[in-house]
Amino acid sequence: MINILDLVRENIKSLKPYSSARDEYKDATSNNMIFLDANENPFENGVNRYPDPQQNNVKDLLSSIRKVDKKNILLGNGSDEVLDLIFRAFCEPKEDNIITLPPTYGMYTVLANVNAIENRRVLLNDAFQPKVDQILEATDNNSKVLFLCSPNNPTGNSFSTDKVEELLLKFKGLVVIDEAYIDFSEHKSWLERLSEFPNLVITQTLSKAYGLAGIRLGVCYASKEIIQVLNNIKPPYNVNELTQQRAIVRLEKMDEIKNEVAQLISERKRLKKELECCVSYIEKVYPSDGNFLLLKVDDATKRYNQLIEYGVVIRNRTTQPLCENCLRISVGICEENQSLIRALKSIQ
Ligand SMILES: *Cc1c(COP(=O)(O)O)cnc(C)c1O
Repeated sequence: MINILDLVRENIKSLKPYSSARDEYKDATSNNMIFLDANENPFENGVNRYPDPQQNNVKDLLSSIRKVDKKNILLGNGSDEVLDLIFRAFCEPKEDNIITLPPTYGMYTVLANVNAIENRRVLLNDAFQPKVDQILEATDNNSKVLFLCSPNNPTGNSFSTDKVEELLLKFKGLVVIDEAYIDFSEHKSWLERLSEFPNLVITQTLSKAYGLAGIRLGVCYASKEIIQVLNNIKPPYNVNELTQQRAIVRLEKMDEIKNEVAQLISERKRLKKELECCVSYIEKVYPSDGNFLLLKVDDATKRYNQLIEYGVVIRNRTTQPLCENCLRISVGICEENQSLIRALKSIQ
């Protein structure tokens, strides 16, 4: 069994977190109290008070939606902040290393560089699945975090349950499963199995399926021990008041979100069929569990530039390992996908 606290950086273990005024006395909205504790401007305008540092109302909603205890939830300014907190809590600069599995989300490498952490890259196999033996061989006692992005960006596939489970059992550091696209997938979230694996960390986001990329809200689910460590180092007011308010409004309308997700999945399926059948220079459309498709074409850079001429911006992934001549296309609304298809057909 892994003792999670053994993985935490020494300086973080002994850290005393900053205690804010709102930590000490929470409810600044209470009308029969006078709040003279935080040097705020007392003239009410809706946002003159500091926000709840523990985002209790947002967490209550997420807790009931995802069926997970509040003690297992941490919120951040996008999942990017959550990932950065994981680095800062667990990875000693110039000493520790992380494992990533390219082609994948670019932010893990950026954060490794920012935090002066070695990034050990073990490419996915030809089916875009993790090479479990090679990953385990690449690790040593300083390997603190393994990043698994599933469904993976930009390949679109989910990692096999058996492989992920083997890695969770055999890797001696944290296994972060980035589930940014989980709501578009038929596979179950690893959240259901959180209590089985003390080293499991799951990140999700309100930026994709939930339609709130602009408010920056990322979610981390993990054991209460891990959440406590991350809580101790996060900036006290990392999720602002407007973000918390907008998230609550949206999370109270889960039926709307589910409806949009269902439409996007159906558009994704339609788009895939159309691209497979009717555009000659598209060699392959990869299966996708996300709200995007990865395609292999004859000349990705040429096709990318041609689409720009038609006013359609997609993502050229040709420089990524295993993604030679690949383009990544986000699924839009029906009319946008129609315009995309028309443009793709015109540029023979
Ligand atoms: C889009 C995306 C995110 C979301 O990041 P936010 O900072 O929450 O917007 C996280 N991980 C992956 C793999 C993504 O593609």
